[in-house]
Amino acid sequence: MSFDTIVVVDWSGAAAPSPARPSRDAIWIGIAREDGVEASYHRTRFDATEALGALFAAEIAAGRRVLAGFDFPFAYPRGFARALTGTDDPLALWAEIAARIEDAPDNANNRLDAAAKINRRFPGNGPFWGNALGRDIADLPRTKAGYANPFAERRTCDGAPGAQPVWKLAGVGSVGSQALLGIARLHALRERFGASLSVRPFESRDTPITLVELFPSLIAKTVADLAGPDEIRDRAQVRVLAGALRALEPAQLDAMTREGDPEEGAILGLGHEARIEEAARRAAAPPLTPPRLRNDCFAMPQGVNWVPVDEALAKLRAALHPVTGRETLPSAQAQGRILAAGCSARRSNPPRPNSAVDGYGFAHAATGAGAQRLPLVEGRAAAGQPYADTVPPGAAIRILTGAILPEGVDTVVLEEDTATDGVTVAFDGPVKPGANTRKAGEDVAEGEPALPAGHRLRAPDLALLSALGVAKVEVFRPLRVGVLSTGDEIVASAALPAAPHQIWDANRPMLLALARDWGCEAIDLGHVCDDPAAIEARLNDGAAQTDVILTSGGASAGDEDHVSALLRRKGTLSSWRIAVKPGRPLALAMWQGTPVFGLPGNPVAALVCSLVFARPALSLMAGAGWTEPQGFTVPAAFSKAKKPGRREFLRARINAEGAAEVFKSEGSGRISGLSWATGLVELPDGALEVTPGTPVRFLPYAAFGLV
Ligand code: AMP
Ligand code: MG
Repeated sequence: MSFDTIVVVDWSGAAAPSPARPSRDAIWIGIAREDGVEASYHRTRFDATEALGALFAAEIAAGRRVLAGFDFPFAYPRGFARALTGTDDPLALWAEIAARIEDAPDNANNRLDAAAKINRRFPGNGPFWGNALGRDIADLPRTKAGYANPFAERRTCDGAPGAQPVWKLAGVGSVGSQALLGIARLHALRERFGASLSVRPFESRDTPITLVELFPSLIAKTVADLAGPDEIRDRAQVRVLAGALRALEPAQLDAMTREGDPEEGAILGLGHEARIEEAARRAAAPPLTPPRLRNDCFAMPQGVNWVPVDEALAKLRAALHPVTGRETLPSAQAQGRILAAGCSARRSNPPRPNSAVDGYGFAHAATGAGAQRLPLVEGRAAAGQPYADTVPPGAAIRILTGAILPEGVDTVVLEEDTATDGVTVAFDGPVKPGANTRKAGEDVAEGEPALPAGHRLRAPDLALLSALGVAKVEVFRPLRVGVLSTGDEIVASAALPAAPHQIWDANRPMLLALARDWGCEAIDLGHVCDDPAAIEARLNDGAAQTDVILTSGGASAGDEDHVSALLRRKGTLSSWRIAVKPGRPLALAMWQGTPVFGLPGNPVAALVCSLVFARPALSLMAGAGWTEPQGFTVPAAFSKAKKPGRREFLRARINAEGAAEVFKSEGSGRISGLSWATGLVELPDGALEVTPGTPVRFLPYAAFGLV
């Protein structure tokens, strides 16, 4: 069993409200959830108990499981419970203490008088001692002088360094007062939450709320290390310990809560300090950010001339890794995001066996072949309205789609196959056992993996996560993709005037839209002229705010190819001459730690290179893994004598006959063909004679993640 929320309470036995300003030796509550840890300050025990009650109720309503730990003893040395209640059950002792303790909303309380009254039942002047009040209390020794205790001084687990005996009611660390007052309040919570709450290790049931005893001093050194510069110690204790417990392996934590003595209880984590301290440090560490890419990651071996597409893709895949950090989001808001950790079902779907149809439910064993007539029980079972009683064998119940099968029902007959007068239902047997029912967990069982890390969340995934009770998901932060256009002839926007020798920037809107389609954060780095200083300044700017930069234009090796020239001089350029058409060399470089994809300026080549090379590369960097477009083979509706040496991508769409037709011109300046097309036909590296009917591979735009 795993806990969603960890609560750590630093309790107080104070006799008056703590100061209004958060201070030490008061009640502090630390709450750790998947999205972080918070700490709150409470001036009175009543206020704290109210807050805990509200928290528990809210978490139960949300279907979440809570482990709440308190820093006072939950039990006493052996024999005390029996002497006071007649049983060894520590929870019977809780009821007994609760009946004796009066604790007002302003912290005024009778703990010392209640302790004296208990002392009176035993020979000697113990077991309780310690009174710092002005007045004497009969049968409660002020100090330990001349003290005789009929019980052991300490529980076995009180051997923990710094732990105090439970009998001590005054002086430093008088944990005895905290226990008497705390147990009374916890008993009230037990009564309020009934079967939804259990106390370990005394009870072993799995319940939405689990209470345990703990002792933050077990990890005092780590708490001190991880406390903020001016943080109040009590606050740091609950914050660090809550975070640490949440960072433990769930199974390990669950096992820890079950350790200990059935009579004397246990301090959670005693003997496992190193493990908890390690978890505390892990929880305090900043979110994992992967290492940056190496500067030489795009290097091509010397002497390589034309690289085949598949080899270029393999090189790219080997060079890259995920580069974004992680965050936790409500699942419903995580559409389009990539899971950084896999999700498992928090509850089975369906949670209980239920009916798949509207009809009548009964126990199969009591039916047979031929005409069946079963008396109907009163009432019905409907979705959201379970039937609370048992349906006796040989009887049937009206049941509707989605209703939980009542006790005694394992089979449902379809309404259309029955006749009824409201008192009896008749149908023809035999009916198959379990007919028209859905088994609990037949879709997904509790704990089963539902979605793997690296999965991009789409609309149906949000349905699945919600159905399985997964309210939050750990996802990668979106990859920040900067887009920069270069070229003296380019006018930044179609909203601006363009002289005849100028053209409007077609690539930037296209590449920004591609980045958005791919679930990335698209960052517009604008347009710069073919001026090395201007390009350099813009790349500096871009590298500081993006994870990857796509440039277009100036990427070849000519005089006016300023992007590649600059990357060669100041970055680490590797010009990949890829055997692909359309497409010229792809300039790959690292610029101040940020990878730059220098795409050709020609919009047709820019799109093809983006889809074929940038798309899988960005997917890998974003955490979704390498992607390969899923194409399908269709007959060609065109003719072409393809030469060997380069892989070719043709703008194409599927015609009414299901064959691939290609755009009327292969001219790489024909932007209209990109819009005419619904995908690309991919022709292999070798020579190919295509005639109508030749099988060719068609890659729809959607296969490249275009929306
Ligand atoms: P380049 O790669 O700079 O040699 O450019 C190749 C061709 O693409 C030239 O005809 C450029 O005018 C054109 N081109 C470059 N950048 C863009 C752009 N952002 N939008 C439209 N055409 C462009
Ligand atoms: Mg140019």
